[in-house]
Amino acid sequence: MCRDLVEKLVQKNDSRILMAVIDGLGDISIEELGGRTPLEAAKTPEMDRLAAGGALGLHIPIARGITPGSGPAHLGLFGYDPVRYQVGRGVLAALGVGFKLQHGDLAARINFCTLDDSGIVTDRRAGRISTEKCVELVGLLTDVKIDGVETFVIPVKQHRACVVFRGNGLTDDIMDTDPGLVGHRPVPVTGSGKSRTVIREFQEKAGEILADLNPANFLLLRGFALHKEFPSIEERFGLCSAAVALYPMYRGVAGLVGMDIMKCSPEDITGQEKAVKRALDSGHDFVFLHHKPADSAGEDGNVQAKISAIEEFDRALPAFLDLDFDVVCITGDHSTPCPMKLHSWHPVPVLIHGGPQRSGYSSAFSEKQACTGALGSFRSTDILTLLLASAGKLAKFGA
Ligand code: ZN
Repeated sequence: MCRDLVEKLVQKNDSRILMAVIDGLGDISIEELGGRTPLEAAKTPEMDRLAAGGALGLHIPIARGITPGSGPAHLGLFGYDPVRYQVGRGVLAALGVGFKLQHGDLAARINFCTLDDSGIVTDRRAGRISTEKCVELVGLLTDVKIDGVETFVIPVKQHRACVVFRGNGLTDDIMDTDPGLVGHRPVPVTGSGKSRTVIREFQEKAGEILADLNPANFLLLRGFALHKEFPSIEERFGLCSAAVALYPMYRGVAGLVGMDIMKCSPEDITGQEKAVKRALDSGHDFVFLHHKPADSAGEDGNVQAKISAIEEFDRALPAFLDLDFDVVCITGDHSTPCPMKLHSWHPVPVLIHGGPQRSGYSSAFSEKQACTGALGSFRSTDILTLLLASAGKLAKFGA
C-alpha cells in the first residue's frame, strides 16, 4: 500500500491508541508443550478476553521469509517501511546505548581485538574482556582528538563499544575494517574523502594508545552508518506519541520517529504503568509500550521463562486497560522461537480491540487463532493504518 495515501487521509480526533509490543512474541510448535507455542500454553485470560471481543491476525515484519532485527521490526510497527527507512548497524548501536545522535553523525560499532606482533588478528573479541575493562579502554580513547570532527566513544558490553563522529560532510560508504576471521590483518581504510581520513586517523591514534595493552591491543570497526532524520510520526500520521520502554534501543528507535520518551521509575512494569498514565495526562494520543522478557527467554531457548514472561504481561494488562484507551493493539515485533534461540521470519500474532471490529472469530490470543482471525495476514506497516482506522482517524478515500 502507498503510505502517502494514508498520510493524506489522516484526520485528528481525541481517540487514544495503545500499541503494546511483547518483544519476540511469536513462536513455533514445541514438542514439550504438546506441539503448542508458549503463547498458546500461557494462561492469558486478559488477552483472551480482548481477542474474543476484538480481532486477530498475523503480521509479516519485513517480507515473507525475512528475519528482522528488532530495530527494523519496530519501525514497521510504527508505520515506517523498514526497507525504505533503513537504519545502519552503527546507528542502532549508538541508539542502543542511549546516545543522542544528530542528523549527519557517522556511527560505527567497535570490537576491541587482539593483534599478534606482526599485526595479524588472533582474537576478534580480545578474549571477551569484561564490561568494566571495556569502560576503562573507552576512557583512554577519549583522548583521541581529530581535526574537523568531534569524536565520541561509548562503551557497550564486553569487547563491544561504538564510536560517533560529528562534523560536516561525512559519508558512510566505508568498508568494515573487521576482516571477519582470525589470521588476517584488519582491512585497511583505503581511498580518499573526509570520512576515510577521519577513520584512518582515529584507528591510528587509538592503535597507539592500545598497543602495549593485553589482550585488547587494537580495535576493529564495522557497520558504518550515517544518521538521517526521519519524518516524524506526528508529521506523517498526526499522532502525538509517547514511548514507554525500559531498554535504550527501543527508546532510541522510538526517538527516531519523533516519539516523546517517557521516564519509567521504578524501571519495571509498575514504572511503565505510571509512565503510560503520565503520557495520557500530558495529551498523547498514541502510546507505545514495550515488554522485553519474552524475547530474552526465546533467545535463551527457555520455554518456561517465555511462558512466564507472557503471563506476567497479561497480569499487568488490566492496569493499562483501566487508563481508558479507545483502541488497544497487542503484538510482537517479530518471532523468537525457543527451539531456534534466534529471531525468525515467522508471522507474528496481532490483536486489535476497540473501534468497530469483526469480532467473534477468535476465543483466545494465540498463533493458531490468529491464523483464522478476522484480520488475515498483512505487512507490519499496515498495523498502524488499521489502528488509525479503528480509532476513526482516517477519512474516506474519494467521493
Ligand atoms: Zn525484538
